[in-house]
Formats: sequence, structure tokens, C-alpha cells
Amino acid sequence: MKTVTLPGGEAVPALGMGSWMMGEVRANRARELAALQAGLDAGLSLIDTAEMYGDGESERLVGEAIRGRRDGVFLVSKVYPFNAGHRSMISACEASLKRLGTDRLDAYLLHWPGSIALDETLEAFERLQREGKIRYWGLSNFTALGIDDVLKASHGKLPVCNQVLYNLGRRGIEWDLQPWCRAHGIPLMAYSPLEQSRLLHDPGLGRIAASLNLTPAQLALAWLLGNDQCIIIPKASSPPRVLENAAALSLELDAATRAALDIFFPPPAAATPLEML
Ligand code: NDP
Repeated sequence: MKTVTLPGGEAVPALGMGSWMMGEVRANRARELAALQAGLDAGLSLIDTAEMYGDGESERLVGEAIRGRRDGVFLVSKVYPFNAGHRSMISACEASLKRLGTDRLDAYLLHWPGSIALDETLEAFERLQREGKIRYWGLSNFTALGIDDVLKASHGKLPVCNQVLYNLGRRGIEWDLQPWCRAHGIPLMAYSPLEQSRLLHDPGLGRIAASLNLTPAQLALAWLLGNDQCIIIPKASSPPRVLENAAALSLELDAATRAALDIFFPPPAAATPLEML
């Protein structure tokens, strides 16, 4: 299993699972639960969720999926920026833990930069860490400049990761953010790696995937998995799709395939603002 090493030295799987928009529709719940469990069985033991997703319904579903196997899971949740204050973060985290049916998160990320002072947010993260409610804190949707401000406020303590939009069609971070994070030893976590499925309809991707006997999703994920220090969190709602995606772990794209993908999905030629979904 390909892994990514976190700043503290712990290794986590490079391919995990997202859960946005899961747990929201009662009729889909059993299939979604089975999907997450199939992923855990296949070794995709990192799960990403957030208090925002379905107003807590995603966390409830994830909680059900990990019941009885919590120790084998690296659990990530995210706090709303407006809940990232002294008191608000403590109660937001406790509510997340309750919905997830666990006593701790492995990583707790600030969902995007907000208006609460970084000092206050970091103090709240550290308090949760001292109390054993979170193991690591991290960031999402932060630019290099934004992380630099965090590092000043944290006196150099590193976030566990920066979770950002990254896929074949959204390569802007390769210009600046990705090299900056590499240089500072901060892993990236690529969200919407399939561009919420829109990428899968791209004719160029389809053609290259077919020539390799892969599905478009497998090719898009295998391409991302070629990055070092980058965790990928596709979301899929059925066991067959999860297993289809998991198969990307055993693929290694050769230079010719990567070059062909560069033609359809060119790398950035200049700095662009960090994109968000
Ligand atoms: P993804 O790029 O992971 O795409 C998910 C979509 O692709 C779903 O519609 C899914 O369908 C479909 N899909 C998955 N696998 C396949 C396959 N093999 N074949 C065909 N279709 C497939 O989008 P997300 O936005 O969900 O991103 C992943 C995760 O990243 C989120 O779930 C969330 O945890 C996180 N995220 C974080 C953000 C942040 O701001 N920090 C923002 C956005 C996402 P189906 O579900 O029907 O199987």
C-alpha cells in the first residue's frame, strides 16, 4: 500500500475516501455504508468528513461505518471557520466526536481560512490535542501565504496537511503551492480528485484510459498517486466503485502516459489563484 508520511513521522495510506454528500438520503444509506466498509476492507483506511457535510449526517454515516474497527482507521474531520474560536471549536469538535461515535479524531482541519484570529484557532487546536480529542491539526484551502501566517502563529509547528482541490483539470497548485508544501514538509490532501465526476466524461482521458484498459477514474487517480506526499480522497457511494478506485493503487503510469495526459491537461504556465469547490 502506497503511503504518505505525516510531519510527525506516521504513515497513512495515500488513497483514502471522501464522504461529502453521503448520509443525506435515507434510501442511499445502506449502499453508502457498504461502500465505506468495502473501502476499509480494501485498505482505504483514511476517511475524510466534516461537520458541514449534510449538517452532520456524513459524520453519522462514517461513525456507523467505523464502529467496531475505530483503531484501524485514520479519521479526518473539519471545523467550520466560524467555529474555530476558543469555545466554539471545543463544542464543535465534541459534537463531531459524538456523531462519529469516537473519543478522538486523528486529524482536525480548519475547513477554509476565516476571520477568527489564527492565534485563537491554534490555541483551541492545541487544547483539543492536550485533551486527547484530536491527534493532529491541519488546514484546508490554504495558500502558501496563508500557511506561512499559520507557521508564524504556531511558532513553526506544522499542520498535518493542507487539503486542497487538485485533479488533472485543476493543476494550478503545481506552480507554487505544491513545491512550497514539499519544501516545508507539509503533505497535501487532494480533494475532488475526479472533479466531482465531471472529469470522467473528458474524451481525452477516456481515450487514454481505454488504450490502457483502465477506467477513466482509475487513470485520474493513478495520475494523482504518482505525486509524492499527496493523499487522495475520492468519494464513491457503492462497493464496486470503491473497489474500482482502489485498484488505482497498484498502477504505475509510465512517462509516455503522463506526457500524453499533459497534452490534454497541461500543467500551469503561470501562477493562478487557489481554486476551491
Ligand atoms: P470526487 O472528485 O471524489 O468525485 C465524486 C463523484 O465521482 C461522485 O459523484 C461519485 O459517484 C463519482 N465517482 C467516484 N468514483 C467513481 C467511479 N469509479 N466511476 C464513476 N464515478 C465515480 O468529488 P468530491 O467533491 O466528493 O471530493 C472527494 C472528497 O473530498 C469529498 O467527498 C470530501 O470528503 C472532500 N472535499 C473537501 C473539500 C474542502 O473544501 N476541503 C471540498 C470538496 C470535497 P457516486 O458517489 O455516485 O459513487
